[in-house]
Amino acid sequence: MTATQPSAPPALGGPGRGSYWITTFGCQMNKADSERMAGILEGMGYREANAELEADLVLYNTCTIRDNAEQKVYSYLGRQAQRKRANPHLTLVVAGCVAQQEGESLLRRVPELDLVMGPQHANRLDTLLGQVEQGQQVVATGEHHILEDITTARRDSQVCAWVNVIYGCNERCTYCVVPSVRGREQSRLPEAIRLEMEGLAARGFREITLLGQNIDAYGRDLPGITPEGRRQHTLTDLLQAVHDVEGIERIRFATSHPRYFTERLIDACADLPKVCEHFHIPFQSGDDAVLRAMARGYTVDRYRRIIERIRSRMPDAAISADVIVAFPGETDAQYRRTLELVEEIGFDQVNTAAYSPRPNTPAADWPDQLSEAVKVERLQALNALVERVARQRSERYRGRVEQVLVEGINPRDPAQWMGRTRTNRLTFFGAPLPESGRDGRGLEPGDLVNVSIEEVRAFSLSGTLA
Ligand code: SF4
Repeated sequence: MTATQPSAPPALGGPGRGSYWITTFGCQMNKADSERMAGILEGMGYREANAELEADLVLYNTCTIRDNAEQKVYSYLGRQAQRKRANPHLTLVVAGCVAQQEGESLLRRVPELDLVMGPQHANRLDTLLGQVEQGQQVVATGEHHILEDITTARRDSQVCAWVNVIYGCNERCTYCVVPSVRGREQSRLPEAIRLEMEGLAARGFREITLLGQNIDAYGRDLPGITPEGRRQHTLTDLLQAVHDVEGIERIRFATSHPRYFTERLIDACADLPKVCEHFHIPFQSGDDAVLRAMARGYTVDRYRRIIERIRSRMPDAAISADVIVAFPGETDAQYRRTLELVEEIGFDQVNTAAYSPRPNTPAADWPDQLSEAVKVERLQALNALVERVARQRSERYRGRVEQVLVEGINPRDPAQWMGRTRTNRLTFFGAPLPESGRDGRGLEPGDLVNVSIEEVRAFSLSGTLA
């Protein structure tokens, strides 16, 4: 549904419309949506503003996974609403998950808003702004079939790009708002994904991360059965279908779900040379009863078997994960099992969070919520462990030569380049700068180089060009 109400029209301008500013909260899916929306705005004639408080159009692409991100949006909006009262031509947009969740009630809370749009509407930004231009205050939060619109994304990196392959999520994890805000799964066709990757390769991109909230569900909403009786479209088939795109050197994918992560997929990753040995597979808890309460659909043992299989085929693979502590009712013993699993698996990186109740999710209403003090204590101890384990994992790189894809100059030290290993470790190294060195041009973003690793830290490495 797209609801509209009359309001004073902001001046969207003509060709050479004003400037825009986008602030993005949350996950990679939001970042990818923001890049597409920036591309649409530039296609409409907007240019990027130098500062948020100077922009003629301000867009907040919001996240509701954590309470603090949501609160931040409201405080940013307060500041912009004040600006708008002094300058009615300012256009204010809230996109993303808070927009989807709050819908029209956002307009009641912040009447200065021009457009409230859920994530499924990101590709329609130009149409919705057209309605705003005609003097409407627009709310677009209804279920919407996501249209192919991939040509206009304005990528933040020159080298690495995200490509959405599936939108939405059909799971019902009891803590998660994603299914209610991003809707049912919608997979893109492999041909469209390949076409987008070819376009990106032609523009100089070298690394692609295929994205989905639950990427292992890719293709289950697409028709087709193979002669062997299995689904025609799976993530494994997709990787095989896009692997030979010329110019793309590395392929990653996220986020994986242990319930659907197959041996066939692991074997394909081992056999396809461009697929990097880095797997982001959230485990969420090291305790089976907590996993059941979360409705995750797997056991800790199943998770262990996946990691064993990955390591038997790709011994150097990096494993990262997401984990939630202090889920309602989590006992001390259950929490300790999470710590034990972090130690046992030896993760390269773990995104950690203390449980925070999200509106319209089952776990938010459960009576056995844990106190803030317990949350803070459990999270701090977990973070310390994650860092120690990551540091141990980093040690394996010391003295090795690693292939690094150059992404650019280190913003904190312009004498250094930075890039990533195949296993996704951020790596800094000294090398000729663009105006010097070989052929008078030194290195360039997108080059693949070998770096001798000399210094290791928990989450990054340093070395010199080998
Ligand atoms: S798999 Fe679970 S946690 Fe992930 S997006 Fe879907 S519902 Fe949320």
